[in-house]
Amino acid sequence: GSLPDRERVRSLLAEAHERYNDDVSGEVADYIPALAGADPDLFGLSLAGVDGGVFSSGDAQVEFSIQSISKAFVFALIDQLLGHDTVRRNIGVNNTGLPFNSVMAIELNHGSPMNAMVNAGAIAATSFAPGGDVESRWEFILDGLSRFAGRELVIDDEVYRSESASNGRNRAIAGLLHSYGAFGADPDSTVDVYTRQCSVNVTAEDLAVMGATLADGGVNPLTGEKVVDASVCRDTLAALAAAGLYERSGDWLYEIGMPGKSGVSGGLVTISPGKGALGSYAPRLDPAGNSVRGQRAAHFLSGALGLNLFASH
Ligand code: GLU
Repeated sequence: GSLPDRERVRSLLAEAHERYNDDVSGEVADYIPALAGADPDLFGLSLAGVDGGVFSSGDAQVEFSIQSISKAFVFALIDQLLGHDTVRRNIGVNNTGLPFNSVMAIELNHGSPMNAMVNAGAIAATSFAPGGDVESRWEFILDGLSRFAGRELVIDDEVYRSESASNGRNRAIAGLLHSYGAFGADPDSTVDVYTRQCSVNVTAEDLAVMGATLADGGVNPLTGEKVVDASVCRDTLAALAAAGLYERSGDWLYEIGMPGKSGVSGGLVTISPGKGALGSYAPRLDPAGNSVRGQRAAHFLSGALGLNLFASH
């Protein structure tokens, strides 16, 4: 099957925006000082189809730092390099059941990062970016993220500086993983590259296009560029299904029925394989760090557009 016709998609996106626009539940993340200043009322929704059609409503062109959503796309880039088996062995694809920045999860699992959708596994994935020095590893990642988006993405310097000054926990995670030998590069420079990747600016529309690339077997529906292999998309979507919404991934799958990835700045991407992806931005978060309105809109649209992967018809 494919998405409903353009008019239907357009009106359902507008309806989703209208339904949840006034919902003020949740809190804006403030553990990274630069995120605390986000306008909490912003709300953007966008849907990109594998045919290249893009539909948006609300603040879909507003830029915000990608944060954890980068984990999904960096995982894909690293999986493309290392391959299915090595990624499973060295990074893992299971849910930790613990918060995204848990140190305990590493200890409980004897040094395994567990999966690339929480900080430990994401930092481990980033450690495998190719290139000798920090700049060439960073270039690999920024270029890869940009190819998923179909435009040249740039870093938000204020967020990068703010997060660099407050990421002691991520440095601890990297040091711990490195001490277990689960790492491709030195921990300090890896956390720097990881912090940069989290500080890259995107819009809800970018997220929809990035997600649609994963829905489209790795071909960006806007540029036609093959960014990763179709097998890498399958691996990535499986990893997202297991852990894309942190310790709430089971709830998410139960309600929305599609792989997704959230980030603490309020972005969310939801992927419908073979059809397209939804991108959203709404900064107020639930206690696990997932955008409240983004989840509600995804729930509504999953039903209205008939996207739930577990529905037989
Ligand atoms: N850069 C954030 C961190 O490492 C990302 C967290 C997230 O979005 O879950 O803490």
